[in-house]
Amino acid sequence: MYDWLIVGAGFAGSVLAERLASQRNERVLLIDRRNHVGGNAYDRYDESGLLIHQYGPHIFHTNAKAIFDHLSLFTEWRPYEHRVLAAVDGKLVPIPINLDTVNTLYDLDLTSEQLEGWFAERAEKVDEIKTSEDVVVSAVGRELYEKFFRGYTRKQWGLDPSELDKSVTARVPTRTNRDDRYFGDEFQFMPKHGYTRMFERMLAHPNIDVMTQTEYDDVRDVIPHRRLIFTGPIDEYFDFRFGKLPYRSLRFEHVTLDQPRFQEVAVVNYPQTNEYTRITEYKYLTGQEHPKTALTFEIPSAEGDPYYPIPKPENQELFKKYEKLALATPNVWFVGRLATYRYYNMDQIVGQALATFRRINESIPISGDGPAVAHASPPAALAS
Ligand code: FAD
Ligand code: UDP
Repeated sequence: MYDWLIVGAGFAGSVLAERLASQRNERVLLIDRRNHVGGNAYDRYDESGLLIHQYGPHIFHTNAKAIFDHLSLFTEWRPYEHRVLAAVDGKLVPIPINLDTVNTLYDLDLTSEQLEGWFAERAEKVDEIKTSEDVVVSAVGRELYEKFFRGYTRKQWGLDPSELDKSVTARVPTRTNRDDRYFGDEFQFMPKHGYTRMFERMLAHPNIDVMTQTEYDDVRDVIPHRRLIFTGPIDEYFDFRFGKLPYRSLRFEHVTLDQPRFQEVAVVNYPQTNEYTRITEYKYLTGQEHPKTALTFEIPSAEGDPYYPIPKPENQELFKKYEKLALATPNVWFVGRLATYRYYNMDQIVGQALATFRRINESIPISGDGPAVAHASPPAALAS
C-alpha cells in the first residue's frame, strides 16, 4: 500500500514526493503520462549532443531564498541572467522596454529623466487598470503597446490584450534605465547539469517509485494508495463536469544548425512578424560549447497539451467551481499550475508545493509503523 499516489512528475509532484518520502518516511508512487520526469521543465540532449528544453526555454529566477535553497539540495547552479531582444520595425531592441529600446527605435539620445517625461506624454490615463492592454498603454502609450505587445499577445493567446487579465503583460516591466535583463529577481540561475538531472536527484529516494507513461485513470483503482496528490488539469480530474477550462497550447519546433551561433542573445521575440512568438538558442542558457547550435521556435495553438491557464475573468469563475469541488474532495490535494489554474513560474510552484507539504504536516499524522526519518542533508552525490 502506498501512502501517496502523486499524479504528475513536474515541479509540484516531484517536490512533494521528495518531501513526503524524506521527511515523513512515507511510501510514494509518482506517475506521469509522459515518458519522462520533470514536467514542462524537462530537458534532454538532442542527436548532436546539445542540451535542449523539450517544452520551451525555462529560466529559473526567484526572490525567495528558501525556494532557491530548497532546490540547491538537488543541484549546483550556473549563474545566468536572461536577456531578450524584440524584432521591431526591422531592428533588434531590448525587451523589457528600456532607455536603449526607445533611443534605438526612434533614433533619439534621451536620458533616463527625459524618458520618464517622454513616456508621460504618451501614456494614456486609465482609471482602473484591469486588462493587459491597460497595463501597457498606461505606462508607455499606444504606439509602443502596438509595436511590442498587441501582436505578440494576440499570437500567443489568440486573444486581444484587452480580453486578458492585467497580470499577463504585467509580467514584463517598463524601465527608464539601461537594465536589459528580462528578470529583476535576486536569484537568477540555471541548474548546472540541467533540470532533468536535478529531478532525478530529487526522486532518487528509496521511498519513491516512479512510473512514467502511466495514466492516472489506468492506475487509480488498481494500485492501492491512502491519499492522492493531483497536479494535472483540475477539469480533467472532475471529468469536465462544468465544461472545459481553457488552456493555451504551443507547438515546439526544435532545429539544430551546423554553425556555432545563430542570434545575439538567448531569446528573440517576434511581436510583428512570423507565426512563431520567439526563437530560443539554448547555448546561452546552458553555457554549452559545441560546434553546432540548437534552437526552438514556439508556435502558439489552441489544440495540444495544456501549457498556459488563460487568465481572464470568466475562466477564473469556471475554475472557482472546480476549486469548490476540490475542497470538498477528501484525501486529495490539488497542486501545481494545471490543478490550481494559475499562470505560475517554477519558483512559485515550488513554493506552492512546500506550502502544501507544511499543511499536510499540520493536518495528517504520519503513516506507517515507525517514526519519520529525516534526510535534511543533501544527497551524497552533492555532498562531495
Ligand atoms: P507540469 O510541469 O505541467 O507537470 C504536470 C505533469 O502532470 C505533466 O508532466 C503531465 O504529463 C502530468 N499529468 C497531467 N495529467 C496527468 C494524468 N491524468 N496522468 C498522468 N500524468 C498526468 N517558469 C519559470 O519559472 N521560468 C521560465 O522561464 C518558464 N518558461 C516557460 C516556458 C514555457 C513554454 C512554459 C509552457 C512554461 C514555462 N514556465 C517557466 C512555467 C513552468 O513550466 C511551470 O511553472 C512548471 O513547470 C509547473 O510545474 P507543475 O508541476 O505545476 O506542472
Ligand atoms: N509579451 C508581449 N511581447 C513581448 C513579451 C511579452 O506582448 O515581447 C506579453 C505576452 O502577452 C506574453 C506576456 O507578455 O504572454 C508574458 O510574457 P512572458 O515572457 O513572461 O511569457 P512566458 O515566458 O510565460 O511565455
